[in-house]
Amino acid sequence: MAKVESFTLDHTAVKAPYVRLITIEKGQKGDEISNYDLRLVQPNENAIPTAGLHTIEHMLAGFLRDRLDGVIDCSPFGCRTGFHLIVWGEHDTTEVAKALKGALEQITKSTWDDVQGTDIRSCGNYRDHSLFSAQEWCKKILAAGISSDPFTRKVVD
Ligand SMILES: [Zn+2]
Repeated sequence: MAKVESFTLDHTAVKAPYVRLITIEKGQKGDEISNYDLRLVQPNENAIPTAGLHTIEHMLAGFLRDRLDGVIDCSPFGCRTGFHLIVWGEHDTTEVAKALKGALEQITKSTWDDVQGTDIRSCGNYRDHSLFSAQEWCKKILAAGISSDPFTRKVVD
């Protein structure tokens, strides 16, 4: 079985919320794709409930693309403590952390009209959304601050 880097991370050693560069994958023609760990809450201590996480996912899809070039995908971890962010090229973790901070701030100021894909045609589980939960969790994450390093707190402005 292929070894996956994410499962070698000591989840008891990290200090969330943080941004961590997981890997940079190189394509056959030299193109690079970066994979980041956007850890929003402390592993094994907290987990964002599904409805709130789902709404955060729908909002990050647009708000991160507004702030960062080359976003391919941003999808939640099964453990519900954060997201994978897949991007063309490489970005500094400080730049990614600032983009994430801006996106979470925008979520806290949003209304239901700002949430994309919330009907039966555009989402696979449209009944399972909560903007209230999304906003309350984003406030908690922002109050803790987002670090550009997973092990040492380097909170971005
Ligand atoms: Zn959905």
